Amino acid sequence: MDYHSLIKRWTALPAQDLLDEIFTSYGTRAALGTSFQKTGLVAIDLLSRHRQDFRVFTIDTGRLFPETHAYMQAISERYRLALEVFSSDANDVADLLATSPYGEYLFLESAALRQECCYVRKVLPRNKALRTLDVWLTGVRKDQSSFRGTLRKVEVIEFEGRPILKVMPLFDWTQEQIDDYIRKRDLPVHPLYAKGFATIGCQAPCTTPSLPGEAPRNGRWRWEKSGLKECSLHLDKFDDGAGI
Ligand code: SF4
Repeated sequence: MDYHSLIKRWTALPAQDLLDEIFTSYGTRAALGTSFQKTGLVAIDLLSRHRQDFRVFTIDTGRLFPETHAYMQAISERYRLALEVFSSDANDVADLLATSPYGEYLFLESAALRQECCYVRKVLPRNKALRTLDVWLTGVRKDQSSFRGTLRKVEVIEFEGRPILKVMPLFDWTQEQIDDYIRKRDLPVHPLYAKGFATIGCQAPCTTPSLPGEAPRNGRWRWEKSGLKECSLHLDKFDDGAGI
């Protein structure tokens, strides 16, 4: 496949056209992965305007907020989604917790254990989803953090020896555009936004409400000094397609 040309063309397409083309071309080999934050909601709404047969998956880390479970259920009913939920194997979590006297809170012990927790609770379940896909869509946007600004709207990632297209259809949308779309379409957002959260992931202390004026991702892992506000889901090796 000429990934280089495909990436160039898809990068130039507006979100709705891009979503339409991907699901028309790839069908069930494409899926939107979402944690049910605002960008994921907009992507689901855009998709639902033109089709009903699109796959959506989420990752249950075992430490999600109760509000997230309730909201996932409500959105699935609203859009009639056959939501696919991927989670860690119980043995993997048990082995993880046994590595530290902190147990469930082992992420407080060191940055390495925090990354390991994210790997077991997020990346391994995500990998189960990727094994079924040729195109993985995510709600990442470039204005969410300085790191995310370095990503690309369309990438080819190497996964278990084969290429997968990773697409961020709303990569160029600003927070204002997302909020504007939600307002115009009168969409119900995750209830934790009303409690001051600008990013929503695992329960405290991993995700906390935002302080005035700070970048949304700063609400994650506040005790860490590294400043890397990522959990490895978006740290895959990528390629511009030219060499594949
Ligand atoms: S966000 Fe926290 S609880 Fe969730 S997987 Fe990462 S370290 Fe573990």
